Amino acid sequence: MKKNPATVDIIAFGAHPDDVEIGAGGLLAKEAALGYKIGIVDLTRGEMGSRGTAEIRAGEADRAAQILGAVWRLNMEMPDGEVSADPESVMKVARVIRTYRPSIIIAPYWDDRHPDHAKASQLISEAHFKAGLKKLEPELGAFRPKTILYYFLNRMDSYSFVVDVSKHYAKKQEAINAHHSQFGEVGLKPLAVLGVKAPLQFIESRDRFQGAQIGVAYGEAFLVRTPVPVKDPMMIWGSE
Ligand SMILES: [Zn+2]
Repeated sequence: MKKNPATVDIIAFGAHPDDVEIGAGGLLAKEAALGYKIGIVDLTRGEMGSRGTAEIRAGEADRAAQILGAVWRLNMEMPDGEVSADPESVMKVARVIRTYRPSIIIAPYWDDRHPDHAKASQLISEAHFKAGLKKLEPELGAFRPKTILYYFLNRMDSYSFVVDVSKHYAKKQEAINAHHSQFGEVGLKPLAVLGVKAPLQFIESRDRFQGAQIGVAYGEAFLVRTPVPVKDPMMIWGSE
């Protein structure tokens, strides 16, 4: 079957325009550098954030997507602060999945203190399932990505694996810094993103810690709900 040129290998979903950079920016930069097509979908424009307007944030998000090497970035314009897994929102996300047919989707971890992150997780998980139902809006064609990788924002929990993102860490930092309204210095007022006053240091410390778990400089941890199929443990743990 001929592939629609708009299709991608991976779609990374976030509730707000800097979420995927924080939780999975290293993985996205790495996969883009390996030649995979990446799409990014922000559910809201982040208009309720204390800093920046929807317009400023849209420009920052586009710049960050370019830095990571994504082929497109969409915004679903759902209400910031009110992300909901209602049936219509689930179908909207399911249609995006069916249109772009990624092998993997990336979503925020469900147990997060920000209600939008938790709701986004539920919404994307339900959309992933519904996108595969043949009798539901059959005109777009049923399609279910192979898995969902959940990334961490505020709360870290047990995870399934850690990806070495050391070589792509500079891109992740550059992409986060592109969200200047969120992470730049604003007067002398301390910033509080992710519930901490030094968010960039917090993100870097966590990624260094994750990297240390697997013996590399920087890592990103992901959780999947099903066992990870490993063809050959020697590919991972055998001597080089
Ligand atoms: Zn967020």
